[in-house]
Amino acid sequence: MENQLHLCPCCSGNAYDNCCKPFHTGSRPENALQLMRSRYAAYALNIASYIIATTHTANPQYSKNMLSWKRSISQFSHSTTFHRLEIIDFKENALWATVTFTACLSQDTRDTTFTERSHFEKVKGAWLYRDGSLAQGHQTPPSW
Ligand SMILES: [Zn+2]
Repeated sequence: MENQLHLCPCCSGNAYDNCCKPFHTGSRPENALQLMRSRYAAYALNIASYIIATTHTANPQYSKNMLSWKRSISQFSHSTTFHRLEIIDFKENALWATVTFTACLSQDTRDTTFTERSHFEKVKGAWLYRDGSLAQGHQTPPSW
């Protein structure tokens, strides 16, 4: 049970300390896949500041009102159960990357699982979440 508790929420099977924690505490992800996983883990652990810091300013969710943005991310994290992250595809070149994934989530008893193709852009050496397009028939929960 002890081990279970320390597994990284990004579902890598690795301990959180050796997986997404270094990114949440200041290390830079080497690629967009690591960024994607660590953002999922940050949602699961309610680390809104990390979501904000890794969102591109051109993202539709990007808000200059940090306080209300942070609040809505936290609200999402609190009201959501993060079951599983499945990576379907990952493509990357020097400055752009796409990650297709399924996030298995629920809110109360409602299944809010969705599949998204996320776009990432490298800005000044750091990967940022630019935007995402959903698989047909899917809806992202607000604040994702
Ligand atoms: Zn992780």
